[in-house]
Amino acid sequence: MLNIVIFGAPGSGKGTQSALISSKYGLHHISTGEILRGEIENQTPLGLMAEEYISQGHLVPDQLIIDMFANILDKTANSKGYVFDGFPRTISQAQALDAMLRERQTDVTAVLSLSADEKELIQRLLKRGELAGRKDDNLETIKKRLDVYSEQTEPLKEYYKKKGKLFKIKDGSIDDIFERIAEEIDRLFFQHGK
Ligand code: ADP
Repeated sequence: MLNIVIFGAPGSGKGTQSALISSKYGLHHISTGEILRGEIENQTPLGLMAEEYISQGHLVPDQLIIDMFANILDKTANSKGYVFDGFPRTISQAQALDAMLRERQTDVTAVLSLSADEKELIQRLLKRGELAGRKDDNLETIKKRLDVYSEQTEPLKEYYKKKGKLFKIKDGSIDDIFERIAEEIDRLFFQHGK
């Protein structure tokens, strides 16, 4: 089973690349941000709780996210592999992910880390705010999300590096990045099989 974590700051292109990976390799794409936006749209109890955090650029509390995530894993148990997009975002989420995958006799195969210059990230997110109307894509919230990313999420690079699972993907156009990702995944497929 191939389980890829697509990792990077807000605006680094995780969602775009995850969709491309998922369709090329037949992996199930789980985007915690997308799921949360669906919960908000449907005004579920989880959505109502999450909205407050998201609109301020904070992370949704770990336990809420971990339970939501476990639920999706259970519902997609026959998947041949996953692209995790936006999860894990904290060390405790990463530990929970390790435990959940271990229980299912599998593990994180690789963490592909996208990078982008901070000014570029802000520009992309502001543009997305105009085009897609995401409420958290305004300057104040974007800055908060980038701070939260460097404080709480970036330390995960070290966590996965120590396990030998971190692979850095050089920035470029969407196509360039995907080409680099595909090279990495082809190599992983070769090593790990199905
Ligand atoms: P981006 O990567 O651009 O910030 P996402 O769609 O991945 O966009 O996430 C949007 C928001 O949803 C985050 O700012 C956060 O508030 C919440 N969120 C998503 N995933 C998680 C997670 N794993 N843990 C906590 N909060 C999350």
